[in-house]
Amino acid sequence: MATKLTGPVRVRFPPSPTGALHVGGARTAIYNDLLRRSLGGSMILRIEDTDRQRSDPEMVAQIQRALAWLGIEADEGPFLQSDRVEEHRAAARRLLEEGKAYHCFRTAEEVEEKRREAEKRGQTSFYRVFFEPPTPEEVARRLEAGESYAVRFRMPKGDIQFHDLVRGDVTFAEAVLDDFIILRSDGSPTYHLSVVCDDAHGGVTHVIRGEDHLSNVPKHIGLYRALGAEVPTFGHLPLIMGPDRKRLSKRTGAASVEEFRDQGILPQALYNFLALLGWSPGDDREVMSREEMTEAFTVERLVSSAAIFDYDKLRWMNAQYLSGEPLEEILSRLAPFLDEVGLADADAERLAAAVDLHRTRAYYLQELAGYIVPYFRERLDYDEDLCRKFLGQADLPAQLDLLTERFGAIEPFDLDGIETAIRGLAAEVEVKAGVLIHPTRMALSASKAGPSLFHLVEAMGQEASVRHLGNFTAYLRERSGSVEA
Ligand code: GLU
Repeated sequence: MATKLTGPVRVRFPPSPTGALHVGGARTAIYNDLLRRSLGGSMILRIEDTDRQRSDPEMVAQIQRALAWLGIEADEGPFLQSDRVEEHRAAARRLLEEGKAYHCFRTAEEVEEKRREAEKRGQTSFYRVFFEPPTPEEVARRLEAGESYAVRFRMPKGDIQFHDLVRGDVTFAEAVLDDFIILRSDGSPTYHLSVVCDDAHGGVTHVIRGEDHLSNVPKHIGLYRALGAEVPTFGHLPLIMGPDRKRLSKRTGAASVEEFRDQGILPQALYNFLALLGWSPGDDREVMSREEMTEAFTVERLVSSAAIFDYDKLRWMNAQYLSGEPLEEILSRLAPFLDEVGLADADAERLAAAVDLHRTRAYYLQELAGYIVPYFRERLDYDEDLCRKFLGQADLPAQLDLLTERFGAIEPFDLDGIETAIRGLAAEVEVKAGVLIHPTRMALSASKAGPSLFHLVEAMGQEASVRHLGNFTAYLRERSGSVEA
């Protein structure tokens, strides 16, 4: 039966700095964040850097940047796991002294041979089946001789059972459990020892992490008990699969938090999207603020089936946030993308008007920045294919000359004035308003689609509208001269 959780909780997020923060890791951090927020308590950030060869200091910084970008702030840390190696070694020594672990002098080849033999017999547990721990005399003799050794934990007999917050009751039968190394022969602690020591030291009450760690739980429970520490509550989240139902990776698209950031996904959208990838609020709400998610969050609604990463849904979610967040927020998130297209110094007022006009049509910040470019570029490049229809309209350049003139005379340059100028001229030259509206849109944005034209012209402003219209008319004259009538 699911137990109702009560706070305060102490949770942790302990990434290994071997690569950029993956969306799977980010989702784990999000559920820990939501649990801590909803029940009260604190979250520890611990960098699990004990694997020196694979750890990269640049990745530590990268992970911290990605978490900060997502708005996930730990209450304690970051701690480096490597700072507590001496404590981990001391724990191994204590277990040795208490007979809960033993010296292991076996060579890797010997162990591997027995492992294969066990595999052939269909056994998963082999160490304690094939090898007797050395006698105290043997240990003394081999230590005396200076032989190197690892420390192996003596896994207690019996099945291991626990209640997982996501998967329910889980049992690991004795037959699959085995003794395992906690200190390597070079004196370095293994992940199992370090993680248990550090979680116990930090007073962690709930361990929420990826399903790939489920099979480690019996080892960890064995160690907690042997060390006399309280066993935390576990919850193992299903893996995130790509649309091809394989593990999400670069092959299927972006997989790290910073890749999504660089594509122009908003952190609020990614947080919301990932939170729903394995949890639901129990109703049909999808776009939810962090406060709403915190309010609705319960571990009972974490789901145990694999989550499929739906890129289209993330795109949709991002569009919702681009339309709905305060304009100030969008402008500040857009800044690096404007920088990339050379618009770092764009006039703030015109920029705000243009962004507000286009943001409901964009899926990504990058795309939104693209819509803004025509507002600030001296000249636009027109695509001949898109303009073919206008090139065939012999009267158009003269009509656009008149419109350019009228645009220059509108005072004040507002929606009413713009609409009157276009509709008035259309009536005078006896064409439908669309005959002027479509080329004007092309002139001002080099595109066939966009927001309402009158709004577009207003946001563009008088000077730029007159300039683009003039340039476009010149382009039409020049190109139609070279196009067969
Ligand atoms: N450092 C581990 C990882 O990144 C986390 C282990 C854990 O949560 O216990 O997979």
